[in-house]
Amino acid sequence: MPGTILFDLFHTLLDGADAQRDRVVARMGEIVGVDPSALVRAYHDSWPERLVRWSAEETVRVLAGRLGVAPSAKQVARAAALRLELASWLLNSAPSSTLVALDGLRAAGWRLGLVSNATAEVAEAWPGSGLSRRFDAAVFSCEAGVAKPEPGIYRAAAAALGVAPSGCVFVGDGADGELAGAAAVGAAVVRTAEFVDRSRVWAGPVVGSLAELSQLLGEVPAGRGVLQPGASTA
Ligand SMILES: [Mg+2]
Repeated sequence: MPGTILFDLFHTLLDGADAQRDRVVARMGEIVGVDPSALVRAYHDSWPERLVRWSAEETVRVLAGRLGVAPSAKQVARAAALRLELASWLLNSAPSSTLVALDGLRAAGWRLGLVSNATAEVAEAWPGSGLSRRFDAAVFSCEAGVAKPEPGIYRAAAAALGVAPSGCVFVGDGADGELAGAAAVGAAVVRTAEFVDRSRVWAGPVVGSLAELSQLLGEVPAGRGVLQPGASTA
């Protein structure tokens, strides 16, 4: 019987576009007057911080400050706008096969939630994306103030959908320990290898694409069934 599925975003519904991110941040460095490669490094190094705090503009200001530069408000706004533009583009780059799979699950009666470790510009761009209208709830770490694999972010998404985490299936590529985190709150777990194959982090059920998900879930009579959380080998 269909229930609730919580999806990860990057490398699950769409590609992470890591190379584009670095190119955009380098351009932002030029705009605010810091060494582009130093700003790219600062963005990478501050990932755990950016996940749970700061707007796009605050991030530019803080990271430029750490590199010894105090950009003007105009420079900060121009740089942050590039980041937002990238997020909008990314969210609209989901393959049509992803959209078809999500539509199929919804048509079959599944309720869909998003649980994403994401920085501010992604949450800001989300409502304008074609993905957002396919979801009944979305929780972003930057807004929740807590990131996967912490229990609170899964619980917040489940609560937004009016269910317990143990009544959900979590689907993700496995970054940030998200599969073990989902299993720890009692969710059934499916790993996707469509964009990146992290087979070393999860030994449970896996799909090669979201198109395979409905068949796999169809084999689960009551939400859990064969999808008992797999053993982590990490
Ligand atoms: Mg991911």
